[in-house]
Amino acid sequence: MVRRQLELIGEDPDREGLLKTPSRVAKAQMWLTRGYGQTASEVIGDALFAEDHENMVMVRDIEMYSMCEHHMLPFFGKVHIAYIPNGKIVGLSKLPRVVEVFARRLQVQERLGEQIADALEEVLQPKGVGVVIEAVHLC
Ligand SMILES: [Zn+2]
Repeated sequence: MVRRQLELIGEDPDREGLLKTPSRVAKAQMWLTRGYGQTASEVIGDALFAEDHENMVMVRDIEMYSMCEHHMLPFFGKVHIAYIPNGKIVGLSKLPRVVEVFARRLQVQERLGEQIADALEEVLQPKGVGVVIEAVHLC
């Protein structure tokens, strides 16, 4: 399919620089969409802790790289996550991993934010959760 795309844009898929491009694109696509094979509870694992802490937990500026479902072009930026615990907290290093689970799929920015929030809602049952995404789209 990538070979055909190269032909359609007027390229010669048999020239040296492009010979391995179809298999490189396939590998890159697998990597960019690896989130389909993962779940939030999997990546959080046992990093859930009972804790009476009642103040808002906030992690800002989590790096996010995703791909828009309309053009399969990158969009990327920062995710800010805040939640108010309800007896449980999650290891802070796990929040970027949760972002990855959903970012590494074909996405729209709004759904990405919702899925991250829903996953944290499910795992933590917090008193509240908020997710803000600031992103730049290449499309
Ligand atoms: Zn797009």
